[in-house]
Amino acid sequence: MPQQGPPELTVAGAGPAGLAAAIRAARAGWRVTVYERRPEVGARFHGDLQGLENWSTAGDVLEELRTWGIEPAFRHHPFREVTVFDPAGQAHRCRGRRPLFYLVRRGPEPESLDQALRHQAEALGVRLHLGRPAPPPAGWRIQAHGPRSGNVIALGLVFETEAPDGCWAAASDRLAPKGYAYLLVAGGRGTVAACLFADFHRRRECLAATLAFFRERLGLGTARLPMERPRPFGGTGLFAPADRAAAGPVLRVGEAAGFQDALFGFGIRYAMRSAVLAVDALLTGEPERYERAWRRALARRFRAAVVNRYFYERLGDGGYGGFLRAVAAAPDVRRWLRRYYGPSLWKDLAYPLVRSRVRLLARGP
Ligand SMILES: Cc1cc2nc3c(=O)[nH]c(=O)nc-3n(C[C@H](O)[C@H](O)[C@H](O)COP(=O)(O)OP(=O)(O)OC[C@H]3O[C@@H](n4cnc5c(N)ncnc54)[C@H](O)[C@@H]3O)c2cc1C
Repeated sequence: MPQQGPPELTVAGAGPAGLAAAIRAARAGWRVTVYERRPEVGARFHGDLQGLENWSTAGDVLEELRTWGIEPAFRHHPFREVTVFDPAGQAHRCRGRRPLFYLVRRGPEPESLDQALRHQAEALGVRLHLGRPAPPPAGWRIQAHGPRSGNVIALGLVFETEAPDGCWAAASDRLAPKGYAYLLVAGGRGTVAACLFADFHRRRECLAATLAFFRERLGLGTARLPMERPRPFGGTGLFAPADRAAAGPVLRVGEAAGFQDALFGFGIRYAMRSAVLAVDALLTGEPERYERAWRRALARRFRAAVVNRYFYERLGDGGYGGFLRAVAAAPDVRRWLRRYYGPSLWKDLAYPLVRSRVRLLARGP
């Protein structure tokens, strides 16, 4: 394609994937325009806390961001420990030697992940059009519009609190079928939610049960763990990469391409990593390299997550306790999770046998 001046890139969607792509391309000297259909960056989210997982690589995720040219200039709280309750109510303390994850805020507020990425992009000269869906593709295009449908949903409350920081979760099909309930407190902000991978029609009942559970176990909503200004939030996620993520000059990244952690829904790293792979392919002048790159970096990992999900779902309430005992017994849960999340030959072999049995997973690499 003949070019005058720096090459141009259009990005559809200003989530972590779209903004990571914009930052990466702008650093390489490209003229980048981002379209965001919502009126503000991060408006898909509501100030809820999310975990930037730090177990799937040996190195630290914040360092990885720096190597991509992204400064972790967002508010983040490292957590080396999470307590997970099993269906019988027994608590399992899972500890890592280094942070298992960083809690970050999502949404349009200052210091959120979304706003920090926005500021970095704009400081690099990226043009951002808010409240405008992306026009039809013309030239190079990163498609980062997030999920168009969902096979996981989360429903909960965001609140302010004076309680000390802490992270708790519960594996129980009564609270969150095939998923988990969670309660997160960091820096005066709290988030409590049920994250369902099945039985979506039960979501309100599950949220009510989740609130009652954490109230009974931890005093949520009482003087022990006060909830000020609770606001509802919710959203969906999609794990199911298409057969192809690149079509001519259009490269799909993040959840727009179905890149998401099929096991527990930790999609932020998938989103940013796929964006970096796509831009790096564009920078070589051979966008079709993206297809090979995401297959090499993400496809086996995704397949491992699907296999893990298949077996996790089969545990059910009778088996979650044993699973949690195994995790909590690990001297370093971060290391344990890295191995558990990692690809392996047996997971490669199991994937074709189980993929059609994982809910709504219509497609896959
Ligand atoms: C409630 C909830 C909790 C979660 N918790 C975690 C967690 O703890 N840890 C974790 O790692 N992940 C979590 N996730 C998943 C994570 O948030 C996503 O995987 C991640 O945000 C995906 O990034 P993305 O850039 O691909 O898509 P999005 O973040 O969805 O961004 C896409 C953007 O594109 C915009 N857009 C859509 N259509 C258009 C269009 N036509 N033109 C222009 N713009 C458009 C949207 O408005 C949106 O701003 C959670 C998700 C939900 C819903």
